[in-house]
Amino acid sequence: MTARLAEPLATTLGKRAAGPLAKLGLETVDDLLRHYPRRYGDPGRLTDMDRLQLGEHVTVMARVARATVRPMRSRGGALLQATVTDGRHELSLTFFAKRAGALRPHEDKLRPGRSGLFTGVVSEYRGTRQLTHPDYVLVGVDADDDEEAMVEASRPIPIYPASASVPTWRIQRAVRTVLDPLTEDDVVDPLPVEVRARLGLPTRLDALRAVHVPDSAEHWQRGRRRLRLEEAFVLQVALAQRRARTASEEATARLPRQAGAGGVLEDFDAALPFTLTEGQRRVGEQIADELARPRPMQRLLQGEVGSGKTVVALRAMLQVVDAGGQAALLAPTEVLAAQHARTLRTMLGPLAEGGLLGGAANGTRVALLTGSLGAAARKEALLQAAGGEAGIVVGTHALLGDQVQFADLGLVVVDEQHRFGVEQRDALRAKGRVAPHLLVMTATPIPRTVAMTVFGDLETSTLTELPSGRAGITSHVVPAANPRWNERMWEKVREEVDAGRRAYVVCPRIHPDDAPAGGASTPGAPEPDEIADLLEPAEAVSDGPPLRAVLEVADMLRSTPRLDGVEVGVLHGQLPPAEKDVAMARFASGEAPVLVSTTVVEVGVDVPEATVMVVFDADRFGISQLHQLRGRIGRGGDPGLCLLVSNAQPGTPAAARVEALAGTTDGFELATLDLELRSEGDVLGAAQSGRSSSLRLLRVVKDADLIAEARTEATAIVAGDPELAAHPELAEAIAAQLDAEQEEFLERA
Ligand code: ADP
Ligand code: MG
Repeated sequence: MTARLAEPLATTLGKRAAGPLAKLGLETVDDLLRHYPRRYGDPGRLTDMDRLQLGEHVTVMARVARATVRPMRSRGGALLQATVTDGRHELSLTFFAKRAGALRPHEDKLRPGRSGLFTGVVSEYRGTRQLTHPDYVLVGVDADDDEEAMVEASRPIPIYPASASVPTWRIQRAVRTVLDPLTEDDVVDPLPVEVRARLGLPTRLDALRAVHVPDSAEHWQRGRRRLRLEEAFVLQVALAQRRARTASEEATARLPRQAGAGGVLEDFDAALPFTLTEGQRRVGEQIADELARPRPMQRLLQGEVGSGKTVVALRAMLQVVDAGGQAALLAPTEVLAAQHARTLRTMLGPLAEGGLLGGAANGTRVALLTGSLGAAARKEALLQAAGGEAGIVVGTHALLGDQVQFADLGLVVVDEQHRFGVEQRDALRAKGRVAPHLLVMTATPIPRTVAMTVFGDLETSTLTELPSGRAGITSHVVPAANPRWNERMWEKVREEVDAGRRAYVVCPRIHPDDAPAGGASTPGAPEPDEIADLLEPAEAVSDGPPLRAVLEVADMLRSTPRLDGVEVGVLHGQLPPAEKDVAMARFASGEAPVLVSTTVVEVGVDVPEATVMVVFDADRFGISQLHQLRGRIGRGGDPGLCLLVSNAQPGTPAAARVEALAGTTDGFELATLDLELRSEGDVLGAAQSGRSSSLRLLRVVKDADLIAEARTEATAIVAGDPELAAHPELAEAIAAQLDAEQEEFLERA
């Protein structure tokens, strides 16, 4: 960074002006220049005052209707009362002073007909909305001459992310003080000249002028586009470098065994109770091929819920085992890790009993390693991993621990990736002597450009079809207040249970007196992901009937005559791990065919006999989450029925979410809708939120074309100059971005 940009604001602006800016986290000239306007006021268009909320800190664009100064009889002193309007509604501005003289300057400025921006907290006095001692700036008034005033009056007005102590025009004034004297030499431009020329973009300095001091809407839009492209480009260059670096790393080639050579994979395939789908075969070949190369595979496997990703991963793991290596499977929750270990052992049968009496001669072992394991079981699992007896090691975050060693780690599979960050992936990879191959699986369908941004260092494969023979899922919204519907719901559950099938009943909280967050402070707190699941940020606190709780609903079902003789199980994050296992096992086996649970069953749980799911307070969950939940049923040959019990008022976003779910089972369609309804941070996921520091303007969904463009340019630059020796400004921008990410990662850890 140039000395100019690195200069502390206290030096440039003086301590008094810099103090309040520091509260917004703006310390240097560069920080301030990157504090981009949130939106622009159009001098020709006034704010609709009908929408102002009491108690809100607002900035409104309005026209002065009148202003009068008068003495205050009761308290002494003087009062200036001005009225501003948006053309239809009025808002009062009130200023108090000891002497009328002190109010003159305001009266002078607040002349009828002038318009400006007014900021303050909305209050009410005798039925009229008002701002008391508002801060304000009038359009064109502070200019030196008439001509300048005309120009100023027609410019879009940048409106900055501000606070009560620093109104937006203070920020604007500060920005102009630092921006006006800058020259091209002061501003480093990470975009290489050739890229800028090819895409016809302004310089960074021009872009900064355009966004901070625009002549017209078209002007700031052009500037913004260039800054967005820069963000996308810097990120894509970092990702391209990462790809190039791993591509040049060495890995052990894990060649598949010849047919008839006694491989575990061959035996497994022969015993598979179904035929692979076309997609599973295609992706399987792709992976087999990459595992056989001496370069680390870096692959993301996307697939709709229920598309059969586990088999694909398992076959990849077996190829590695056949080649003498080990595979690690990383799952986001204990429930899921335990289930994976169970499924793998079941699917493998005698093949998972290597070295045991009755086990297959070519068999291996599946070890399970989670945080809650007893000391003895843990030691056993660690030994099997380190000694190589376990060809497959399944676990949660516990796998990342320093004590976990592998004899020869050849493949890392990460299930349901959105819960893991890049850093965690790296921690696992570091456990191989040479870089292990990597397969990341996600069930959340991700639009292409999001994948490019979040998983930009991975190649992508997609399973689009579901195994045939699935009878499909029907979903209905059940109004919570309708007793007939509720009655019918349990009747349906009973029918399915009697037919040998199972039902999930999902509730947003555990105890009736818990906060919806699941009680972060209660003993035996839920697993972190469970807390995150339950927090629907915008609506975590709202009115309406209390949310249904697992324990309460379970009691209710146990005493309802309709479910007489049916064992009702309970599953949630606060149960000791052993009890979770028992609950899942009894549900899977059908001993307890009704399972009341929190969203712990959201990800990956696979019980093919489950056909019904009742989701209480469905309006409180997010779209992807409901889609994931619903993916737990209809996994066998019987049709699924999902009943979304909702309290949402028609026409609200919550109602829209639930209806969208009932309307389609297409994950990509729902994901797109979800993106439209959610904020960027949610899209990128908590684990990726570090990115937000570098992505200020870029919107991964809306800026799809721009990201694709940036990626093409980035790939070309890195191909020609992998270490960016000829592009020092770019290298510097990337280093700065990585620093910021690292910092945030450390803060989160
Ligand atoms: P997901 O992609 O959601 O992780 P799973 O791997 O859990 O899906 O698979 C869902 C269910 O489908 C499992 O019970 C699995 O055994 C079954 N399955 C996988 N592939 C096939 C197939 N080709 N034909 C029939 N059933 C399959
Ligand atoms: Mg899965």
